[in-house]
Amino acid sequence: MTWVTEVRRRRVGLLGGTFDPPHIGHVVAAMSVGEALDLDEVWLVPAGDPWQKRDRRVTPAGVRLALTEAAVDGVPGLGVSDVEVRRAGPSYTIDTVDQLRADDPERDLVLIMGRDAAAGLPTWERHEELVAAVELALVDRAGVMPADRPAPDLGGGARAHVVPMRRIDVSSTELRHRAAAGLPLVPLVAPGVAALVARHGLYRDPEPV
Ligand code: ATP
Ligand code: MG
Repeated sequence: MTWVTEVRRRRVGLLGGTFDPPHIGHVVAAMSVGEALDLDEVWLVPAGDPWQKRDRRVTPAGVRLALTEAAVDGVPGLGVSDVEVRRAGPSYTIDTVDQLRADDPERDLVLIMGRDAAAGLPTWERHEELVAAVELALVDRAGVMPADRPAPDLGGGARAHVVPMRRIDVSSTELRHRAAAGLPLVPLVAPGVAALVARHGLYRDPEPV
């Protein structure tokens, strides 16, 4: 007689971004989705070459990776993946998903994004393949919404959750402006992130508007 044990597949959330710099909005988004969907882990995935941000200066990928590691330091359930930083060429999410699925086919991936990012999804490389390969978790950076609000139609048979999240009204853009103005970044970023920003002298020059 054979005993069949039902093994629950591991589910890992992925929050991609430029993380220039990572802030509490990113960390709370990752935490909120991890808790709401009962994920085993959530990884922040800094883009090596953020093709959507070609119109502005972007901090070198290795430095953004270190900033992102500092952002999740000591936060239970959160980690960082360096797959996109190690891969050459534009950081397409579908390539990341393919690579992580090849690394461990027994793992399910949940792609986390703000609704602002989700609005641009149809412009992403091979997006129909992407939405067929993962579950999506959309968080709203403009405020908590009823959990049962239907997800927008993202096409291609997308499986999307809408996850309510407390409003954390902060962006990396605002933090770069604060740094250029000499204003403190803590507590909007982790102390370790602020220390690295200071050590590398990041965001000192005001950005062209
Ligand atoms: P920038 O101002 O440079 O565009 P950002 O703060 O929007 O930076 P990104 O690295 O562009 O940060 O965002 C990565 C992901 O995190 C996106 O899916 C975005 O929607 C989400 N995100 C960013 N800030 C918040 C926030 N305050 N609350 C919830 N989600 C957020
Ligand atoms: Mg953004």
